[in-house]
Amino acid sequence: MNHAPRGGVVLHDARELALMRQAGQIVARTHQALRPHIRPGISTAELDAIALDFIRSQDATPTFLGYRGFPASICTSINDELVHGIPSPTRHLAVGDIISIDVGATYRGWVGDSGWTYAVGPISAAAQQLLDVTEAALWAGIAQARAGNRIGDIAAAMQELVEQAGFSVVREYTSHGVGRQMHEPPSILNYGQPGTGLRLRPGMTFALEPMVQAGDWRTRVDADAWTVRTRDGSLSAHFEHTIAITTADAEILTVC
Ligand code: MG
Ligand code: MG
Repeated sequence: MNHAPRGGVVLHDARELALMRQAGQIVARTHQALRPHIRPGISTAELDAIALDFIRSQDATPTFLGYRGFPASICTSINDELVHGIPSPTRHLAVGDIISIDVGATYRGWVGDSGWTYAVGPISAAAQQLLDVTEAALWAGIAQARAGNRIGDIAAAMQELVEQAGFSVVREYTSHGVGRQMHEPPSILNYGQPGTGLRLRPGMTFALEPMVQAGDWRTRVDADAWTVRTRDGSLSAHFEHTIAITTADAEILTVC
């Protein structure tokens, strides 16, 4: 059963959450399958093929493939690329790169969505700090994702942590509801005021995904109409989990 309490936000029952848990686990295990291959020399198209094979082996489908015409199963975004990078056979990882890999899988009609930024070999201290702060922002947001809190509490927690570190929260892309579709209401800004916005209820499911830039918050889109990168050329990072609001702590669905 689905019903929408307001603004089209869907509450999921136990049966639906069980299916979303399975979709989420497939996404988490796809990241696990990719992780040992994230090494200097591999091409982003090879990573895409590994993910596609794994997702299909789980009787799931890659949610991104064909989404609004996206030509691959995962997004691979390197260094100043923030999100939506297209895997390519001519794009090879190098020592010191950071690569954001976003994975979506659809299982029996339900979607899991999780992104992670990985280091390729040793990286600079500045890059490591960006990764640490962005991941910490995700966990700070998840800590506020509790029934009775409001969406603004999640947003403010993420923003505060990022800006205290001297980094910028991306304004032009958001966290979002997720369920039967990858993007469902509500859109959740990754910055905002505590105590504002939709009140959280058990059964809501969100993909929380702080996107953080070492420099200015502005982005631009490449001529390929997909790749989003920092306008100032600074590094960017992206961490994302699909979660469910419960009567206690949020349940993270994209773990295994
Ligand atoms: Mg994602
Ligand atoms: Mg997402």
